[in-house]
Amino acid sequence: MTSFDSLGLHPSLLKALQSADYTEPTPIQSKAIPKIVRGFDIRASAQTGTGKTAAFLLPLLNRLTYPRPQASRGPRALILVPTRELAMQVAHQAEKYSRFLNRIKTVCVVGGVPYPAQQRQLSRPYDLLIATPGRLIDFLDRKKINLSHVEVFVLDEADRMLDMGFVEPVERIASALPTSRQTLLFSATLAGSVQQLSERIMNKPMDIKIHSDQAKHENITQKLHLVDNLGHKNRILEHILQEEQIEYAIIFTSTKRHVEQLAGELYEKGHSAAPLHGDMNQRQRSRTLAQLRSGKIKILVATDVAARGIDVQLITHVINFDMPNNTEDYVHRIGRTGRAGAQGTALSFAAHRDTFLVKKIEQFTGQQINVVEIAGLEPRAKPNHPKKRPFRGGYRKSYAGRR
Ligand code: AMP
Repeated sequence: MTSFDSLGLHPSLLKALQSADYTEPTPIQSKAIPKIVRGFDIRASAQTGTGKTAAFLLPLLNRLTYPRPQASRGPRALILVPTRELAMQVAHQAEKYSRFLNRIKTVCVVGGVPYPAQQRQLSRPYDLLIATPGRLIDFLDRKKINLSHVEVFVLDEADRMLDMGFVEPVERIASALPTSRQTLLFSATLAGSVQQLSERIMNKPMDIKIHSDQAKHENITQKLHLVDNLGHKNRILEHILQEEQIEYAIIFTSTKRHVEQLAGELYEKGHSAAPLHGDMNQRQRSRTLAQLRSGKIKILVATDVAARGIDVQLITHVINFDMPNNTEDYVHRIGRTGRAGAQGTALSFAAHRDTFLVKKIEQFTGQQINVVEIAGLEPRAKPNHPKKRPFRGGYRKSYAGRR
């Protein structure tokens, strides 16, 4: 098994990974990082939730630990992303991984934000520029950014960028960069227009694909329990904890208060359960995770925020006591089980209002989530013959129409 230590990264980056509780690289990270460190252009097909951001950020930050090749102003690395939200997420991760490195300054240049503050940041020295295409072009036209010393150019979610009509801006930006740069392209698909673009702006790229079962979580059995209310959820959970072969589980709920409450209730009932949420400090969180790894705790009740970055291979079950707010969080949550090729089970409790989200999740993952029922704990209102209807991504319509 690869470890972060063997990927050729700076000790300060390894320290940051340790404090983020990342114990081992994800498949995309172990494949991409060594190649990027060696200077190759790479094209990687990887969706969100696979750890793709760290796959390019870690080697990129590693490169920034070396002194500038010449006295110059302007960014040494450019990360182009389709949306402001993604820019913020990438910036957040960059900050997390570079916290033990000195002097790495990041500037975000994104649309929907007033110009003066960005302009002020651009007038001071900085190393890493994270940008959306439209606003970057604005600044290039005003000659406020000089891209002629960029060493690494990253295109994140390239397929989305092209879907949003940014082909020309991307090519213009690429033409403002030195030809000697390293280019890294990440995209859910590498076919069609993404491939054509990459041929125009990349230099003999190496392709990296991760197995689809890892991307799509095919080693995770997903099931859905239709629920009426909180009491119904509690009864189903109790049944599952008694009957299913659960070794280690993470139960997700939506608020810190409920995390505390549910962990307390389960503990009272004799389960070795503990809470994990954002109000706990780093020491408390690390202690809880260590207790999980050592087997003292078997059930973690957590919020999404707290569960980010948890990589404990023992987890056999993920239970969505409350559904997440969006598809990405769902994929991220269920990815806490079935790690490193193991089998896992993800159980979701969906109320009537979650119908639309479930449909979106199924479309996103391309997988149907089977509805299951427990004898004696059936929901009061049921879909029409749900098991007989073929899956077309919309079978839950009948359920939506019922109540
Ligand atoms: P991404 O696919 O880049 O959106 O990352 C998904 C999530 O996985 C982010 O919350 C990361 O912080 C987290 N993550 C990335 N790499 C690892 C790792 N090696 N171990 C555990 N969590 C990780």
